[in-house]
Amino acid sequence: MDQEARLDAIFNKTDGRCRFCGKQLCRSNYGKRGRRGAWVQEHSRSVANGGTTHLNNLFAACYECNEDKSGTNAASYKRRRRKQGKHVAKRSWWTGRYQ
Ligand SMILES: [Zn+2]
Repeated sequence: MDQEARLDAIFNKTDGRCRFCGKQLCRSNYGKRGRRGAWVQEHSRSVANGGTTHLNNLFAACYECNEDKSGTNAASYKRRRRKQGKHVAKRSWWTGRYQ
C-alpha cells in the first residue's frame, strides 16, 4: 500500500473528520498546517508508549487536537477533553456517521 492509499484509509476511518473534535478535515490538506481542514496522522497509542505505525494505530486529527494531545494516548486525551467539557467525536450508533 503506498503512502497516498494509507492516508486515504486513515482519512476514511473517521469519515474525514478529526477523531477528537469531529471537525471536518480536507483530504488534500494533509500536513499543511494553517490550511483549511489541515490534518495529521495521529498515533492512537503514542510511539513513546510503544505505539506502532500500523494502520490500526493511526487516525486523522486536526493540528489543534494533535498538539493538545502531544505525548499522551488517545484514551487519556479523550478523558481530558471530557473533563474540560469539550466535544469528543465518535461514530453515532444512530446515523452511522462519525461526528
Ligand atoms: Zn480536532
